[in-house]
Amino acid sequence: MKITHISLYRYDIPLKAAIAISLGTIESAQNILVEIKTDEAITGWGEGSHLWMIVGETQSSGLAAATDMARLLIGRDPLDIEGCINSLTRYLPGHPTTRSAFDMALYDIAAKAARMPLYQFLGGAKRSLVTDETIYINTPERMVDDALRIQNNGAEAIKVKLGTNLRDDIERVEAIRNAIGDTIPIRTDANQGWDVVTASGVLRAIGNWNVQYCEQPVRRHDIAGLLQIRRNTTVPIMADESLFDATDAIRLVREEAVDYFNIKLSKSGGIFEALKINAIAEAAGISCMIGCMSESRLALTANAHFAASRQNIRFCDLDGCFEHADDPVHGGITYNGYQIELPDAPGIGAEVDPVFLATCEHKTIS
Ligand code: MG
Repeated sequence: MKITHISLYRYDIPLKAAIAISLGTIESAQNILVEIKTDEAITGWGEGSHLWMIVGETQSSGLAAATDMARLLIGRDPLDIEGCINSLTRYLPGHPTTRSAFDMALYDIAAKAARMPLYQFLGGAKRSLVTDETIYINTPERMVDDALRIQNNGAEAIKVKLGTNLRDDIERVEAIRNAIGDTIPIRTDANQGWDVVTASGVLRAIGNWNVQYCEQPVRRHDIAGLLQIRRNTTVPIMADESLFDATDAIRLVREEAVDYFNIKLSKSGGIFEALKINAIAEAAGISCMIGCMSESRLALTANAHFAASRQNIRFCDLDGCFEHADDPVHGGITYNGYQIELPDAPGIGAEVDPVFLATCEHKTIS
């Protein structure tokens, strides 16, 4: 099989409202789509959601990088996933979100060629995945409203964005706990917003309020800080921005810096590297979460296939599309409440509505 054409789409999805995390505010999902065509009439789809303040790529820089990446893949065998991904990484280190869109399309083709849904192609089974829902940074009153709505919808876990300052962050969690009672676990995420002293103070204060873990309390490169916070508090610590690839995973394991990993295909550069990260985690006794940026159900479905394929992935945070004002995806995962149902079609099993696609700026490399 040979890759003949690759089309790149500027894939903008409006949000219902702007969302805020400690790093900044997001007004719309500025994603890209990659469509890889082959000489055997099999087409693969991939999506990247560039959360620039985390990955250092924007939609525009991603599209520019994707043009060069596409040229490298024309004429190659898409079933040689390792060869294709290694050549992209060697040519252009970095750009994990853009690379992940290519990786996703290659796995889509390979699983379609094998006539298997992707979770099965990856050697896994269709198992139960339950996502949490995220509350973004706002006043305690607005965050309480969101928490009550999510509780009423039947969520099994609520993720709360924090990372502003000690007093406000403790007040947010206290207000939410007082409103929803003690039964639903709260997952916290500071998105690098604290220093060691603040993180230790907040986590000590909220430590007895059924807090399941805290994602990324301090800056990405502060591995010693993660370890120190882990020693200072009983709340388990999860690496998110500190964990992009397998090399990061080895360092975090060696330094005993965290209890859990948050794997996202948009950080790892796709499934090929995510499988390595999970293998390192599992060998080290670290359970993983599958997380997301602001992907549509296309990339969320690829993330869900990967999560279903590995039992070491224990937590699921695949709610990126909940904030989208438009859902242009046909097929793919469906949400039964917070339970995720995977499709049985070969490959990822999701495509973008051709009418929506026709409105997206695009170009084709052949
Ligand atoms: Mg996070």
